[in-house]
Amino acid sequence: MAKYIFVTGGVTSSLGKGIIAASLAKLLQSRGLKVTIQKFDPYINVDPGTLNPYEHGECYVTDDGAETDLDLGHYERFLNTPTSQANNVTTGRIYQTVINKEREGAYLGKTVQVVPHITDEIKRRMMLLGESGKFDIVITELGGTVGDIESLPFVEAVRQIQWELPEEDCLIVHLTLIPYLKAAKELKTKPTQHSVRMLSQEGVHPNVIVCRTEHPLTDEIKRKIALFCNVKPNAVIEAMDASTIYEVPVKMLEEGLDVIVLKKLQINGYAAPELGKWNNFLSKLSNPKQKVTVGLIGKYVELQDAYKSILEAFIHAGAMNECKVQVVNIHSEFLTKENIAGQLKDLDALLVAPGFGARGVEGKIEAVKYARENQLPFFGICLGMQMAVIEYARNVLGWKDAHSTEMDANTTHPVIALMEEQKKIKNKGGTMRLGAYSCTLDQATLAHQIYGTDSISERHRHRWEFNNNYINDFINAGLIPSGKNPQNQLVEVVELKDHPFFIGVQYHPELKSTVENPHPIFVHFIKAAKQYAAQKMAVKSGKETV
Ligand code: GLN
Repeated sequence: MAKYIFVTGGVTSSLGKGIIAASLAKLLQSRGLKVTIQKFDPYINVDPGTLNPYEHGECYVTDDGAETDLDLGHYERFLNTPTSQANNVTTGRIYQTVINKEREGAYLGKTVQVVPHITDEIKRRMMLLGESGKFDIVITELGGTVGDIESLPFVEAVRQIQWELPEEDCLIVHLTLIPYLKAAKELKTKPTQHSVRMLSQEGVHPNVIVCRTEHPLTDEIKRKIALFCNVKPNAVIEAMDASTIYEVPVKMLEEGLDVIVLKKLQINGYAAPELGKWNNFLSKLSNPKQKVTVGLIGKYVELQDAYKSILEAFIHAGAMNECKVQVVNIHSEFLTKENIAGQLKDLDALLVAPGFGARGVEGKIEAVKYARENQLPFFGICLGMQMAVIEYARNVLGWKDAHSTEMDANTTHPVIALMEEQKKIKNKGGTMRLGAYSCTLDQATLAHQIYGTDSISERHRHRWEFNNNYINDFINAGLIPSGKNPQNQLVEVVELKDHPFFIGVQYHPELKSTVENPHPIFVHFIKAAKQYAAQKMAVKSGKETV
């Protein structure tokens, strides 16, 4: 029987509930417990798949093809274990289930209401992973902030679960903000008192209070929070701003968050925390021996969350290479033939990002051309790979109007075309090619050298694909399709023969990079960037001595 921890948030959004949940999970895992984390989001979309990245950041995809909240990415990166559809539930999905059941007649004769029907469905889903027998602890992060109208049914479900379970099987962690008023030179506890009171009015009383703060909490402040929020002082945990999210588990260990949780859940005989790999990563991260500059060419670059997993994968790969990766965001919409060299000349490598629609694609194609012609390490992901194929078709094969039918339905050279299975699909939600598919890599290719194996599995999220009608033209011209889906021969990886590092992948490798398992393409890409930087330096100093 699993135990349940619920993480709620008060005062304001963006406090980092996901990171606190993931850090607590990491610590419990490091002490030998089997832990998973799930997120319940109060919005009405069935999943975030149809949301613009500007609205909600990146859409994270799981092995089983669920389009989920980006916090699931943090859960996987911290715990190094995969999540699934069951780990992310929205209000929309809950209502969809209840309404479908109503239509089937499951509630025949009854009025279907928020309480108990919606709350029962929330509870059922909250308990599900715990009932699988695979976990000792299930941590549930509640999206939104306490007091939001849309969170009420979730808080009510938590209240009922807390009431139903034995006291030692359920725990509430409330994350809150302790603002610092510069003029008064004081940390203020009042917003926290109010948020705890609001939660209590809804019937849920927090057992542990985690306080985000820019300044250390004195014992006196801790006592005050404890007294007015009705917890013991050792259940008030300070969460100071950290220089990297990966430091948070260590800070929480120092603060004793895991120990107070274990005590309250009456879990005895736990092991000492085994954080060897984690600490090794942290020490490499904070002691880089070199720096490289990588350009991230995308169209959502104003919003960092839009490329969350890519940025985190760079951090993992950088640490592995003992190298600081400075990412320069370059807006593809403003890249032109005329300004490209000026914009890209200081880079040591460039990554062309995933995306949808026509905006900014010509800039991406220009960027690929620059990388190809200047021997600059290149990595294209999903749309980035498709742009590499189009660039090659236009500038090497000479098919000037080559394009993807996503952007130009009438091109005479549709080198990227809609997948057969996609042609009849009308609905937008959850209908892309999603989740894990296997891929076979050809021997003696860059891809094979990177992965060191013949067969891989990676996650997908796209509708268009490399058009196999042109495969021989590309091979003859030097663009190698080095990885293919073994069932349907879809091209998953392309690379160039005569280039130090040029790879495009139809899948999303960034989704599988974790602290303990940095993704091999990112690791090799940064290695190539290091070599490029070293060569640049050698040429420069050669010139200087001449
Ligand atoms: N828009 C492209 C497609 O649907 C690429 C998608 C992506 O980059 N994730 O195929």
